[in-house]
Amino acid sequence: MSNATPAENPLLTAEGLPPFDRITPADVEPAVREILDATATAIDKIEADLSDPGLATWDNTIAVLETLGRNWERSWSPVTHLMGVANSDELREAHDSVLPDVVAMGLRIRQSRPVFIALKHLRDTSAWETFTEPQQRIIHERIRDAELAGIGLDGEQQERFNDIASQLSQLSTSFSNNVLDATKAWELVLTDPSDVDGLPDTLLQLASQSHNENCSTEIESSQASAGTPEQGPWRFTLDVPIAMPFLQHCRKRDLRETLYRAYVTRASDGETDNAPLIDEILALRRERASLLGYTSYAEVSLTSKMAMGVEAVEEMFETLREASWEAGNRDLDDLRELATKSGQQEPLAQWDAAFWSERLRESRFDFTDEDLRPYFSLDRVLDGLFSLCHRLFGITVEAADGQAPIWHEDVRYFIVHDEQQNERAGFYLDPYSRPETKRGGAWMNECLVRCRIDGQLQLPVAHLICNSTPPVGDRPSLMTFREVETLFHEFGHGLQHMMTTVEHADASGINGVEWDAVELPSQFMENWCYHRPTLLGIARHYETGEVLPEDLFEKLCRARTYRAGSLMLRQLNFGMLDMHLHHQFDPAGEDTVLEVQQRIAEQTSPLPPLPENRFLCGFQHIFAGGYAAGYYSYKWAEVLSADAFSAFEDAGLDDEHAVTETGRRFRDTVLASGGGRHPMDVFRDFRGREPGTAALLKHNGLA
Ligand code: ZN
Repeated sequence: MSNATPAENPLLTAEGLPPFDRITPADVEPAVREILDATATAIDKIEADLSDPGLATWDNTIAVLETLGRNWERSWSPVTHLMGVANSDELREAHDSVLPDVVAMGLRIRQSRPVFIALKHLRDTSAWETFTEPQQRIIHERIRDAELAGIGLDGEQQERFNDIASQLSQLSTSFSNNVLDATKAWELVLTDPSDVDGLPDTLLQLASQSHNENCSTEIESSQASAGTPEQGPWRFTLDVPIAMPFLQHCRKRDLRETLYRAYVTRASDGETDNAPLIDEILALRRERASLLGYTSYAEVSLTSKMAMGVEAVEEMFETLREASWEAGNRDLDDLRELATKSGQQEPLAQWDAAFWSERLRESRFDFTDEDLRPYFSLDRVLDGLFSLCHRLFGITVEAADGQAPIWHEDVRYFIVHDEQQNERAGFYLDPYSRPETKRGGAWMNECLVRCRIDGQLQLPVAHLICNSTPPVGDRPSLMTFREVETLFHEFGHGLQHMMTTVEHADASGINGVEWDAVELPSQFMENWCYHRPTLLGIARHYETGEVLPEDLFEKLCRARTYRAGSLMLRQLNFGMLDMHLHHQFDPAGEDTVLEVQQRIAEQTSPLPPLPENRFLCGFQHIFAGGYAAGYYSYKWAEVLSADAFSAFEDAGLDDEHAVTETGRRFRDTVLASGGGRHPMDVFRDFRGREPGTAALLKHNGLA
């Protein structure tokens, strides 16, 4: 691909795909330092040029910033990408050595006062009308982000704002650390094999490993204590991958109770008590909001989201809650009935729910991941996915292995052509799990973003990263159904990145898309995994070619709505509590956080929580993560994606012409607009109206 001389730093190439096959950890620091210097010089010049805001134009503000961004896309993005897929100690060291300076440079650009003033000037003058919608959105977003970062404040207010920011950052670190320490401090060690009766092998392996690791840190190099998954001892902890399957499968009720109580009171007393931190965090967030001129932190959060306001979110909550309440109560009755029938004397308690719900699932849907796996070989799944995209969006995906530099021999490269046979985008697929060097989970990331610089159009390239089961011997990669759904999900993100028509980096693809709308295309694509012709077109036994048996497909579809009411209520409980604490709740008022928690639980938990339940003390999403006054986004995005899919149902899923037409409309609105148009307008463009909850409720069997 490249004619570069060996002396040339692969992170400083000017065009083409990043030379992933040549990048070494030693390249990182020199390349990033060079780009940092160049950026600093450029920013100085931009700021000098803007000393008179009256001279501001698109070209001397956003356009130059876009050009700078392109250097980072080629030097820094490949590094963060490789951190996820080809990690090593050397790479991490190189990455960490420049990270603080990279972060600081990002802040310097986003918070530049001359740029801020120049952009406001552009917004407030007659030039504004000459900008396209994406350009206006980009300018608005830059101004808003700078304002939310406190750039508009002066003197004492600015000082207080910065003080709050640093306190909040410390508090969230402490909150996380407390959860971590409290989790670490608790253990349940079992030695009697009858106590672990019924636990899955994978859990026993984890618990045995946890015991051995714990012993080896306590007694250096003692072999005497090493146990086995079959014989024990087994050490159970409050780590979710251990605690959850334990509650689902442990047959001893008293042991479940012990672990459950520990879990819901995690980090709620002694040295790791998070309760006082919660009060402080909420008070500081409220004060920060008021410095910015908002009445609550929720309002701050929503300024950068699709939801028009707290009321819109609360309306969604209430509609979903009302529709799920009865079903949630019926689910609970089912569990009570099964527990009694199975000989449990005591009334159903919190620590019984997960256990009986798993038993009920087993009795209703007696299939496992392994039963389905032989029907989902990766190649077939890809073929099915690509032909679906051809039908819906008119695009053709072609393998282009060997035409792009790769970071591992399993990585594949594909090129996407549009209906007119024009090359439109490319993507990497890194399909298999490689635990030693690759992060777990699945994600879509940008490699190159669609943008036009100096008249030259750069086509978008996506990274699609999965962790599916690799091929073994001559057996191909066989996927679980969940892995198939995940691939469709990530491909949905990829489609929005690749099919965008916007040519400004800040609004191209997923860039600039409001946070609560960004999961629309991804969750939309998941729906097709339950579409009979699509799925049965994919699911063929890798040896016999036999199509997935009808009854298995039926069960798969029914399992999708299993306990949908209960699951919905659980998510609503988190979302409503989050919103209430960041909007109505006044930390200086009469109410306590705990009282709010109880009131919300009365509306959302058919089985009332224990009075000592302190799950908020472990709720890292909103107190130590980015979800504060944003937890609702999970549901919001589900509403959007279900409603988008229902456009195909309304048009007729069996009507090929209707599917094609609706697919093209989805392509030309949701996929094409990217961050260049408000997501509510984009949704209206596609659906002809605003989103509603009906489709989600119907898909969940709740309407
Ligand atoms: Zn996603």
